[in-house]
This record gives sequence, structure tokens and C-alpha cells, in this order.
Amino acid sequence: MNDYPRFDLPISPPTRVTGWAGNSATLGAGLELPVFYPATGEQISVLAEDDAASVDQAVKAARHAFDKGPWPGLPTADRIAVLERCGQIIRENADELARLECVATGLLLRELRERHMARAAYNFRFFADFISQRAGERYDQTPGYLTTVAREPVGVAALIAPWNAPVALATMKISAALAFGNTCVLKPSEQTPLALARLVALLQEVLPEGVLNLVNGRGPVTGAALVAHPDVDLISFTGGTETGRSIMSAAGQRLVPCTMELGGKSANIIFASADYERALDGALLGIFSNNGQQCLAGSRILVERPIFDDFVGRFIERAQRIRVGDPTLSETELGPLASHSHMMRVLNFVETARADGGSLLTGGARRDDLGEGYFVTPTAVSVPSNTARTAQDEIFGPFATFLPFDTTDEAAAIANDTQFGLVSYVWSDHLPTVMTMTEQLRSGIVWVNTPMMRELRAPFGGYKNSGVGREGGAACEAFYTEEKTVTLPKTPPPLRRLGETGG
Ligand code: NAD
Repeated sequence: MNDYPRFDLPISPPTRVTGWAGNSATLGAGLELPVFYPATGEQISVLAEDDAASVDQAVKAARHAFDKGPWPGLPTADRIAVLERCGQIIRENADELARLECVATGLLLRELRERHMARAAYNFRFFADFISQRAGERYDQTPGYLTTVAREPVGVAALIAPWNAPVALATMKISAALAFGNTCVLKPSEQTPLALARLVALLQEVLPEGVLNLVNGRGPVTGAALVAHPDVDLISFTGGTETGRSIMSAAGQRLVPCTMELGGKSANIIFASADYERALDGALLGIFSNNGQQCLAGSRILVERPIFDDFVGRFIERAQRIRVGDPTLSETELGPLASHSHMMRVLNFVETARADGGSLLTGGARRDDLGEGYFVTPTAVSVPSNTARTAQDEIFGPFATFLPFDTTDEAAAIANDTQFGLVSYVWSDHLPTVMTMTEQLRSGIVWVNTPMMRELRAPFGGYKNSGVGREGGAACEAFYTEEKTVTLPKTPPPLRRLGETGG
């Protein structure tokens, strides 16, 4: 039963999502890019791309707000009040934001309302709390001297977001950058600009002018202009590993600090000693939530050999019963993929698996009965070895790859045999097994007997090609602030007097 109102499509009149702070903008003279509803394939809006000139105006607005505006020097209590108001605005507008996010991404409306928007609001609340609790540093090791360490905002932060969870991921960056006194320019993915455009407009009502700016457009045009801009002091990027590589090399030219939250091919390791039903639920959630499009997906499912056949059989049974369809219906469990090209890429991996000696276990097809939407059946393959491309490449869809293992060491070796290192999942009730695995796994996060539990105070990020740097409480403070050491004598001691006795 659908308990959510339907959308009026197209979003009418077509939303022209334009430019930066929106204060005096007559921007968006660039190319117009279509925005599609993934559940029907209809064009629902049009995005006016910001070219290098409008990126320059956005960055200049942020620069001016940082250099001349009140934000960087605002008393902490006042900044906390603004951050709390931002969180409240998201809660008050969660319905509209969730609907805009749904039409551009195809993500489930229920999930967007109940999880993504709640997380987005909480991101602001979290950093408001975080800055209220910060302690300073004071040292006096050298007799007669006092040294203090101040943390100051860095400047203008470029925040570049992907399409798979736009509001939830971008608000982590916005809230952290603002909490530590920076100003910013946000560039959403060109595929999913709608909810973030609305959110930025709402937040701009409570932020000083120029503190939060928006540019829209394709990565190599708008994104590249932002990254190369000489007034950008910091870059926080979430997206694909290849894009991260190119952004980091451009940033390296100007020695601009970056955080990179990149791709993953995470192992979901299931031991015979696991709570079987819980591990099965976790394996399904790990690969099929968020329509299968998440960096932390447990996309390589490693199962201990004695339970391999049975576990795979039960997984297939459940996967075939997953309700695929309209993302606005509350009973839907898997919505469409984000774009037609992404759907074709995901489906092509079925042939890739076969070419590598693997076999299709279930799914692997477009749901033609659901119209022109980008719907794919929940898919699983098994492959003969971890060298198969479906075990190595990030597919970023509802596509699981199964592999058996015999020993704890073998499980860890397979899990670590990848260019990525974002997350690992371990399912076992045998403590020594759990301890061995948590020590051996080379990933930024290890989740034991649970799927996807993010603690914002803890660092989040990846080993190897999954990222550089971390997001989270103290990690964000380290990234979004400069440390300044100030030393002064308490009672000035006499100094050596150079040149006093010379000729
Ligand atoms: P993407 O790399 O294609 O794009 C991400 C963003 O970068 C977009 O806004 C895009 O326009 C922009 N961009 C592209 N080229 C650019 C350039 N040359 N200069 C500046 N900006 C540029 O990624 P995507 O397809 O949007 O997202 C999916 C990827 O994101 C997956 O690999 C996924 O694993 C990763 N991801 C990682 C995390 C994490 O926290 N580690 C979270 C979510 C998604």
C-alpha cells in the first residue's frame, strides 16, 4: 500500500538549477543538462551548468565571506546556534528534500525520509555539539615559557559530492566545514542536483552571505574549474577512485590539502560460527540497500566452505523475493539504478563474470515489465577465484560476487587482495576468529556482526585506493583547521646578546 503522495512529474515548471550564492546571480548561461527520474526514464528537470566564470564568482563570494565576513571569527556559541538552526531547517523540510532526492536518484523515498534526511540534520547537530566540547592545548615544558595551540579555520573549502546519497554525504562536508569556521563552495553531482539546490537555498537564509555557495555542472567542467581555482584552500571529495586521483594531482600543483572518500570492494566474510540468520540478513542488506549503490557495500561475499552451498541457496531464495519497483511505494525494497548508462554497465558485468569462468546465480537482467525505468533484478554470481573482475572491480549496483574459503588466514588473504580497503564485514560468534580477523583486515572500518553502523565521532575512510584522510569528529577538525602554535615567555628571561663583544 502506497502511503506516500506521488510526484507531479515533470517538476513543473522545470527547475532551472543555477549558480552560486543566488544573491545577484544571473548565471547559468552555460550548457543545459537534463535531469532524469530513474524510475521512468523521464526528463524531469534541466540543470544549467556553471562554467569557469561562474565558478570564479562563487569562489570569490566564499573568499570575501572568509576574509571580510563575520563567520570565521564568530563566537562559538553563535556558530552553534546557526548550526542547530540548519539541522532544524532540514527536519522541517525533510519531506520536500526527500522527494527531490528521490526523483533525481531513484532511492527509496521511505529510506530518504527516515534515514538520509535524519542523518543530514544530525550531521549539523553533531558538529554543533562537537565544537561546544573542544578543549585547548597549553604547554610549559621549557621553564619560563608558555606555549598554546590555536585551531583556526583554513579558508575556502571546495566540497565535491557524488550521486549515490547526495544530501546525506554533502551535509557531512558542509556541517564540518562550517563548524570549524570555513566558508565553502559545494558542487553536487550533475546527475542529482535537485535536493542539494533546494537545501543550499534554505541554508543560505540563515547563513551570512557568501558562507555557503553552490555550483552545478559536470566534473571535467565545473568540478575541474573549482579544483583549479587559486582561492580554494581545501578540497573534500567523495566519489570514484579515478576522479579522486585526477583531483588530487591537480590539487598537488598548488599543495592544497584534500580528503578523498573513494570506492570500495568490501569483503563480507561469513564463518560457519556465525549466527546464520543474522549473517544472511546482513549479507542481503550489505549488497542491496541504497539500491546497491554504496561505497561501503559488502559486494564480495566470502563464505566458509562447509556452509557455502546452503548459504548461497538461502541468499538466492531471499534475493528473488526482494520487491523491486517504484521507489515512492513504502513496500518497495529495491528501486531503480541512478542512470541508464550505469544500469547498462552493471548488467555488462554478468558477461564479464562468465568470461572469467563464473556463473550467474540469480538476476542479471533488466526488469522490462517495469517500463522505461532503470530497474535491475537483484543479482549474484559465483566466481572461481578472487582474480575475477567481478571480484576486483567496483560494480556499484545490486550485484554480489560469491567466493568460498577454508581457513581464517585464507579469508583474510582474499579480503585483502584488492586495490581497495574501505570496509570489511565479519560474521562469527567465535571470539578468537573475530579478533584474528579484525587484526588482519586492511580496511578503514571493520564491522563485526552488523551491517553499516557509522559512529560520527570515529574516523571514516579507507586504506589503499579507497581514500586519503578520514571524515568524522576529530578527523574533520584536523582537516578543516590550521594549527597555530604561539610561544611566549612568562617572565622574559635574558637572551644571548649577539654582537655585543665583537669588533
Ligand atoms: P564520480 O567520481 O564520477 O563523481 C563524483 C563527483 O566528482 C561528481 O560531483 C562529479 O561531477 C565530480 N567530478 C568528476 N570529475 C571531476 C573532475 N575532474 N574535477 C572535479 N570534480 C569532478 O563519482 P560518482 O559516480 O558520482 O560516485 C560513485 C563513486 O563514489 C563510487 O566509486 C563510490 O564508491 C564513491 N563513493 C565513496 C564514498 C566514501 O565515503 N568512500 C561514499 C559514496 C560514494
